[in-house]
Amino acid sequence: MKIQEADAKSLLLAQGLPVPAWDVARTPLEARTAAQRLFNAGEARVVIKAQVLVGGRGKAGGVKLASSLDEAEETASRILGMDIKGITVRKVLVSGAVDIAKEFYLGAIIDRATRRIVLMASAEGGVEIEEVARQNPGAIHQVAADPQLGLLAFQARGLGLAVGLRDALLSQFVTIAQGLYSTMKANDADLVEVNPLAIVSDKSPDGSVAPRLVCLDAKITLDDSGLARHPRLEALRDLDEEDPTDAQARKLGINFIRLEGSIGCMVNGAGLAMTTMDLVKHYGGEPANFLDIGGGARHETVCGAMELILADSNVKAILVNIFGGITRGDEVAEGLIEAWASQARKIPMVVRIVGTNADEAADMLRKANVETATSLDEAAEKAVTLAKGAAR
Ligand code: GDP
Ligand code: MN
Repeated sequence: MKIQEADAKSLLLAQGLPVPAWDVARTPLEARTAAQRLFNAGEARVVIKAQVLVGGRGKAGGVKLASSLDEAEETASRILGMDIKGITVRKVLVSGAVDIAKEFYLGAIIDRATRRIVLMASAEGGVEIEEVARQNPGAIHQVAADPQLGLLAFQARGLGLAVGLRDALLSQFVTIAQGLYSTMKANDADLVEVNPLAIVSDKSPDGSVAPRLVCLDAKITLDDSGLARHPRLEALRDLDEEDPTDAQARKLGINFIRLEGSIGCMVNGAGLAMTTMDLVKHYGGEPANFLDIGGGARHETVCGAMELILADSNVKAILVNIFGGITRGDEVAEGLIEAWASQARKIPMVVRIVGTNADEAADMLRKANVETATSLDEAAEKAVTLAKGAAR
């Protein structure tokens, strides 16, 4: 789950990281009020930033500075309602603007190969890191934290030195890098990214002018499977930007991932779902989705899952593969028949149900004129043939 910059900054702040104060505004007037507060607190300029869950907002015109109340309100009214990469901007972050002396990239990710949290840093900050990785991979430095010991100071220092930091800025960098690591751990995040991490040389809130490091942008992706451990974080889900298909799947309690192919799959169990997809590919087809309806799925769930599959206009055939253990075959068959009969678009379907109440299920399906198969190979092969037939 991706969360908005403002929420990501709250999580960074909770770990003690330096983030300029901000407000979130949903209307130009709210932005004006927020700017007023910041000007009153001594800020000379404010930055107004589109809150959308995509990168490159700056380039798209979604990040602008303003130095008066009127300008802040006017800028907010231009950004609100703007379309950035297909997403409508519904809110903006308003923050005190700083003078940037240099921009760095700092990010923490989970490296699946080493099964560790890896910290990455680059002196080429501000631009998208994928761009740096493509054009100048040598400019990205990384270090893996130890799962027992965490990110040790000497490791963070090595990273800071590699991007050219020294003295006071280097020790600030160490604290910030360790803070990113603790943000990952505290929230079960998959990614915590600060880009830019900026050296600013204007007056800090305490009046001093020594250069300091500040987190100007924040991007956090939370591990969906970890959310059960953090009920508070569930509230950060931005329903405005959630894919309706994902929202529906979550409501049904099923695992659904849309893919590019033409064969809609409905399977119980993640392992069986993957096997089913493998066999579809083996017989020359392409799965349209991964769908695990879970154990003991009732017929309402089956109906809902069918709607999700049929909502994808690329789907040319449906393959259902159910191994009945806790899940009862007849219950699934009932849901399938009901959902299939009510579909507007007539899509061919092949069903394989084995295990608990498989005979009852087969009877029901035959009566409803649904194609059945006994082995998984047969089912996959039939689905591929049906999809090809439908495509012609
Ligand atoms: P992104 O484009 O979606 O990654 O949004 P960012 O928050 O990273 O903002 C894009 C760029 O706007 C940054 O790289 C900065 O150059 C600039 N920017 C953001 N905040 C400030 C600020 O407080 N002062 C100044 N001068 N520039 C800023
Ligand atoms: Mn950024």
